[in-house]
Amino acid sequence: MGEFDLIEKYFKRESSYPGVPLAVGDDCAIVDMPEGKQLVFSIDTLLPEVHFFADAEPRAIATRAFCVCLSDLAAMGASPVGFTMALSLPELNECWLKGFSEGLHYFAEKYRCPLIGGDTVKGPLTISIQVHGFVNKGQALKRSSAKVGDAIFVSEFVGDGAAALHALKNKEPALALDDQNYFFCRYYAPVPQISLGESLVGVANAAIDISDGFVADLRHICRASDVGAEIDLRSIPVSPKTIALSRERSLDWALHGGDDYQLCFTVPDVHKNQLQERVLEVGVSVTEVGRIVEGEGIRSCEGEELCPRGYQHF
Ligand code: ADP
Ligand code: MG
Repeated sequence: MGEFDLIEKYFKRESSYPGVPLAVGDDCAIVDMPEGKQLVFSIDTLLPEVHFFADAEPRAIATRAFCVCLSDLAAMGASPVGFTMALSLPELNECWLKGFSEGLHYFAEKYRCPLIGGDTVKGPLTISIQVHGFVNKGQALKRSSAKVGDAIFVSEFVGDGAAALHALKNKEPALALDDQNYFFCRYYAPVPQISLGESLVGVANAAIDISDGFVADLRHICRASDVGAEIDLRSIPVSPKTIALSRERSLDWALHGGDDYQLCFTVPDVHKNQLQERVLEVGVSVTEVGRIVEGEGIRSCEGEELCPRGYQHF
C-alpha cells in the first residue's frame, strides 16, 4: 500500500454534503460560499506526549484531535463546514489507520464537518487539523467585545479536563469502572459546544473556549477587551466526579487546569432571558460565575487576585 491507496482507503469518503462539491482527491477542495456569510477557520497541531498519549487507542487519538480543533469554531459561534488534516506518520500501520480514520469520520459525521482534504507524510507522529466554518457576516463571537457590566458564564463543568488527565496519568486503580470511563471520555472525547456557540450569536458579547484553563482563557477575553473580571469562586461549576477524585484539588483544576473545551462567554443583562431560552433549546447547562468590571486582571469577590497558570509551550 502506498500513500495514495492509504488516502483513498482511509480518508476519502463519498461526499454527501451540499455546499461541498469537491472534497478529497483533487489538488484542492471546493466549498460553496453562501451569501451573507464569512469563512472562519483555525488550525491546531497535536503531538504525542504533549496533547495525547502515543500508546492510546488510535480511535481515541483521532476523536480528541478532531473535537479539540472543532471547539474553536464553537467559540466563534460558527457552524462547521469541513476540515483538512495534515498527518505525519512514522509507519504505515493499517490497524492503527483503521481505528484512527473510523474515529475521525464518526465524529466528523456527528458534527456535520467532513474531511475535505489534507496531506500525508512520513515522519514523527503529528496531527494538524484545520477546521472551517461559516458565520453570518459581522456576527462572529470575538474575544475583544466584552463590555463592563456583562455577566460571565461557563458551560457545563470546568475542571474535568485536568481531573481526567490526572486520572489517566496516575492510572487511578481505585476508580470505579464508570468513573474511569467518565474521565477517559472527558479527556479523549471533549464535547465541542457547537450548538451552544451557534445559539450565543446575537446574545453573547464575547466568547472563548477553555483550552488553557478558565482563568488563563478569561484573561484572554479581558486583555482583548481592555476590561477586568470579578469571579464568585463558590459558583464555579465543578462536576461531582471531579470533586470525588480530589476535593482539595478540584477548584484548582477548575480554575487553572484547562483541556475542558467548555465555552466561557459574556452576556449583557438585557440578553439574559434570551440566553436562558437558547440554552434550554440546545440542552446545555450554563452557570453565571462573575462580572466584567472596569480595569484589568481577574479577582475573586473577596478581592484575591487570580493569576493565570495555564499550560504554555515555551
Ligand atoms: P498534491 O500532490 O496536490 O499536494 P496530495 O498527493 O498531497 O496532493 O493529496 C492528494 C489528495 O488527497 C488531495 O485531495 C489531498 O487533499 C488529499 N489528502 C492527502 N492526505 C490526506 C489526509 N491525510 N486526509 C485527507 N485528505 C488527504
Ligand atoms: Mg496538487
